[in-house]
Amino acid sequence: MIEDKTPHRTQLSDLGEFGLIAHLTADFKTKQPSTLKGIGDDAAVMNFDDKKTVVSTDLLIEGVHFDLSYVPLKHLGYKAVSVNVSDIYAMNARATQITVSIAVSNRFPLEALEELYAGIYLACERYEVDLVGGDTTSSTRGLIISVTAIGEAQEDELVYRNGAKENDLIVLTGDIGGAYMGLQILEREKAVFQVNPHSQPDLDMYTYILERQLKPEARKDIPPLLKALGVKPTAMMDVSDGLSSEILHICSQSGVGCRLYEDKIPLDPQVISTCEEFNLDSTTIALSGGEDYELLFTIAQADYDKIKGNPHFSVIGHITPKDDGVNLVTRAGQFIPIIARGWNALSKD
Ligand SMILES: [Mg+2]
Repeated sequence: MIEDKTPHRTQLSDLGEFGLIAHLTADFKTKQPSTLKGIGDDAAVMNFDDKKTVVSTDLLIEGVHFDLSYVPLKHLGYKAVSVNVSDIYAMNARATQITVSIAVSNRFPLEALEELYAGIYLACERYEVDLVGGDTTSSTRGLIISVTAIGEAQEDELVYRNGAKENDLIVLTGDIGGAYMGLQILEREKAVFQVNPHSQPDLDMYTYILERQLKPEARKDIPPLLKALGVKPTAMMDVSDGLSSEILHICSQSGVGCRLYEDKIPLDPQVISTCEEFNLDSTTIALSGGEDYELLFTIAQADYDKIKGNPHFSVIGHITPKDDGVNLVTRAGQFIPIIARGWNALSKD
């Protein structure tokens, strides 16, 4: 589906490892005051003064986490950074540095890695993070990318998963389900392409959900917005595996139960129409889809007026005593226990 726009192919072996790193990172400039030494020595040096350091890492493997037949390398680079800084924002912290390590087979020319790093560069600009290190090595087949994100926060700003209290409100940023439905479109078009390589897919009506899948935006804006509103969440995490799996994490770690209201879950009209097209239940997709990288958090009821009416936030439920369990309240008023149907990295299927 993605035509090869890089007819010029430079073998990676022509550059050697150090030449390759120097070439790929030549345009990256450091901008964070906490970065004392970036790329170019044996190790990077950071200074966070009196702040706490937050670190998160992710590993992305071709064929498991991404499919290069429909994911452009530039988007992949951007997404690899987004999903990592999202975990820093989920701690209510600021992302400041990343390291990027890749393993590539010799089927990738230099031009392909330049595309990947163009996406990483865009993400570094967007999230204002410095690329301070990483490693490049060869793999026998396929592409492997590992990004580590580093961030900072004052100790009293940090928000964990275990602080939700009875009667707290459950809040979600943006809308969910789009990334999963975007993936369904890409998988369908890939199947069509395999049968007829000359087919030209018309994807105009799926622009939003395709972007949600291919170029997710981490919610850098939310921690400063909450601070400006004078709200500190009691618990928070990002929606990477799916709403059902994330709310179960918050409830089990906080020792509480909850009620989520089906009619309060924010869905984009394109998610609803695409679910209808695929004969899928949009609530199920919202609960188990994943990869939306929105933030899910709980706040004290006393803070409700501070977020009320803000277009970034939807109150989708409230925290209950543990014995009440973790439930979805349907439009018909039925209580359905929520189980983790979210994407499980270690599941066999
Ligand atoms: Mg997370």
